[in-house]
Amino acid sequence: MRRGNGKQFLGNINTMEVHDLDNEQTLCQIDEIITAGHDRYFTPDTLSQAKSQGFDNGHWCIGGSER
Ligand SMILES: [Zn+2]
Repeated sequence: MRRGNGKQFLGNINTMEVHDLDNEQTLCQIDEIITAGHDRYFTPDTLSQAKSQGFDNGHWCIGGSER
């Protein structure tokens, strides 16, 4: 069971990066994001939806940052 109510993608509203919880890396610091209350989720739960809301790829779990 993933964190974030089973969602795959978790956006960090502090850094405006989106993370793929199916490929979570230690450096993503997902626990810290959730503890800080910076986690946001997407409907539909897709990378393109995150992008449309202004989030950039997480460096460690997705890569290919566009900025
Ligand atoms: Zn990540």
